[in-house]
Amino acid sequence: MEGLLRRCRGLHTLATCSPQLRGYTPHRLHHCTPGRGRRLTLSTMFQPQNLREDQVLPLDGRSADLTCKSQRLMLQVGLIYPASPGCYHLLPYAVRALEKLVRTIDQEMQAIGGQKVSMPSLSPAELWRATNRWDSMDRELFKLRDRHDKEYCLGPTHEEVVTALVASQKTLSYKQLPFLLYQVTRKFRDEPRPRFGLLRGREFYMKDMYTFDATPEAAQETYGLVCAAYSRLFERLGLRCVQVQADVGSIGGSLSHEFQLPVDVGEDRFAVCASCGFSANVETLDVSQTSCPTCQGSLTETRGVEVGHTFYLGTKYSSVFDAKFTNTHGSVSLVEMGCYGLGVTRILAAAIESFSTEDCIRWPGLLAPYQVCLIPPKKGSIEEAAAELTEHLYDHITEAVPRLRGEVLLDDRTHLTIGKRRKDADKFGYPFVIIAGKRALEDPAHFEVWCQNTGEVVFLSREGVLELLSQVQVV
Ligand SMILES: [Zn+2]
Repeated sequence: MEGLLRRCRGLHTLATCSPQLRGYTPHRLHHCTPGRGRRLTLSTMFQPQNLREDQVLPLDGRSADLTCKSQRLMLQVGLIYPASPGCYHLLPYAVRALEKLVRTIDQEMQAIGGQKVSMPSLSPAELWRATNRWDSMDRELFKLRDRHDKEYCLGPTHEEVVTALVASQKTLSYKQLPFLLYQVTRKFRDEPRPRFGLLRGREFYMKDMYTFDATPEAAQETYGLVCAAYSRLFERLGLRCVQVQADVGSIGGSLSHEFQLPVDVGEDRFAVCASCGFSANVETLDVSQTSCPTCQGSLTETRGVEVGHTFYLGTKYSSVFDAKFTNTHGSVSLVEMGCYGLGVTRILAAAIESFSTEDCIRWPGLLAPYQVCLIPPKKGSIEEAAAELTEHLYDHITEAVPRLRGEVLLDDRTHLTIGKRRKDADKFGYPFVIIAGKRALEDPAHFEVWCQNTGEVVFLSREGVLELLSQVQVV
């Protein structure tokens, strides 16, 4: 605290320091240094300075056949931590990645006119009884009672809730249609066998969008619009998802597609025709069907993880809740609906499953929790003279490329060799790992730059590093 006061007085900035700051420990005090953000240091992270290579299985409390690559890697590097069957703590790195994914989703949903809402997780039983899903989905629902004996479930999806909300707005006009409401919230499903980490949990994040149109034709146009937005999202993330015909299941409606990401541990199977592009979940095909129903070409079967699902609902829900609007003739009609889900935590895990090697996490560039990891020399090594250069490089990066503020991490565990820390950085999959090794002592200094997503290793001057990083996209 003494240090802080002296430093702040010296800089004449005491007045701008909040009283709470005085309670901070000295290593965080460069807060007050003008022109610089605080440097993020790995040693002060909640996780993950100690990788848990050997402890993963006992921690998860489950047998080896229930794990998959993404779950194992996410546990090892401290992205997630098991809480109860099918439930995980999302630790800071995972939350950063998740927030980036949500921002990317927001951009795509808002580009097609989506308006974000947030509906309660506690969902009254009477809404579910009205559609008969209180009984038909019975065991999947987490049901509970309040102190007045009123029944609820924790929402696994929100068709009932959103339709009742829209029905309660008595003055809807055709002029307001179409409107697209969406949210990104926690959903709950009492999975009989939660497994594969975030791929199939009991509590997870989902983006669910509900669309309201005046006519079936308009609703189908909206359907195409949302599907195109999903395709754009997956393309930005570099995920090669396949849009396949799907079964409508418990949601209902008359038209449905899934977005499947091909990965080995996928629990869905879908068939693709190489000649005409037809693709469908095998559940929608006859058991005996071996050739393409469109062109008779041969079908290839692939395993996939369902990362998105779309449904054209028509008036299935609006007729139950009497969700109406005033049409062009001044009379009232039922709204035409669609619903569209994205498994947010599942996309995160599926991307890791799809991109990573057996030992190292690889991220879609946009989702990496931190874009850059700087590794200064080991304490006591010949290169130690370059330690300060690394800190300067840190400051130069965040000054020259403002969008990288908060994206650069300094691995200050200088009691460890560069090799050990580089190996850890490889495991975390920071897109750029910058090392101050022997050539940092040259004049001008050169840094060793590992571009994890291309596998390239280059030696760059400070200007070279800045130029390379100025091209990094951050969402
Ligand atoms: Zn075909």
